[in-house]
Amino acid sequence: MSGRTPTGACPERTCVGCRKRAAKTELLRIVAIKDACVPDPRGTLPGRGAYVHPAPVCLDQAVRRRAFTRALRAPGALDTNALRQYVEQTNVAEQATP
Ligand SMILES: [Zn+2]
Repeated sequence: MSGRTPTGACPERTCVGCRKRAAKTELLRIVAIKDACVPDPRGTLPGRGAYVHPAPVCLDQAVRRRAFTRALRAPGALDTNALRQYVEQTNVAEQATP
């Protein structure tokens, strides 16, 4: 088309796992509900959001450095089991489809 669009046209966020910037649409939004990280693929849940690539490697890095706890300003450790399941399912689905 007409090449690169000017900055501001496409919102970017930083992945809390690998710390790389990516288009908001490529990242999965995470919100904290009570003491658990919940995936918010539609971006509709209220509250603070953290962004991560929907990939196990990025999730692992984020969990290891407690990036969600910091990014979501949680008072304590957050449960990431539901999030991990979501990411694993997403990746299985992507690999299964050609
Ligand atoms: Zn990442």
